[in-house]
Amino acid sequence: MAVRKITEYPEKVLGEVGKPVTEFDGELAELCADMFDTMYDAEGVGLAAPQIGLNLRLFVMDCDGIKLIAANPEIVHTEGEQSGQEGCLSIGKVPAVVVRPMKATLRAQNEKGDWFEQEAEGYAARAFMHETDHCDGKLFIDHLPKLRQKMVVKRFNKEKNWK
Ligand SMILES: [Zn+2]
Repeated sequence: MAVRKITEYPEKVLGEVGKPVTEFDGELAELCADMFDTMYDAEGVGLAAPQIGLNLRLFVMDCDGIKLIAANPEIVHTEGEQSGQEGCLSIGKVPAVVVRPMKATLRAQNEKGDWFEQEAEGYAARAFMHETDHCDGKLFIDHLPKLRQKMVVKRFNKEKNWK
């Protein structure tokens, strides 16, 4: 069990497309355990590998009753639309409203390498998409209009300087 350091915007790894997970062994299970520890410590609902500095397609999540490990995640279906607050542990949880689909179906592998599909709605669907984006080197602010994106980054930098 270990809490790892969270990488923060604009560290390069956050903008990189992750490499596929190929080894489903004890090392991966340990890494996932560390990711859960790190996520809970930071009071987040999801954490992707690039957020602890690893260029890997992997995330963990515990949101709205859905707790899972997702290796090589893809969003295979979306439906509807929702508008709601979103934040990211790598950008100091500064919130902004992001429009996303209301429902999403995630396809991924668990820590043993077995493929599964999981549907979610609302906040958990948002988490699926936010974390899968991380694996593609994308941040939630990439979904915002330029001006709002700048405002989030500005506030994040300001709050960081106060610490
Ligand atoms: Zn995030």
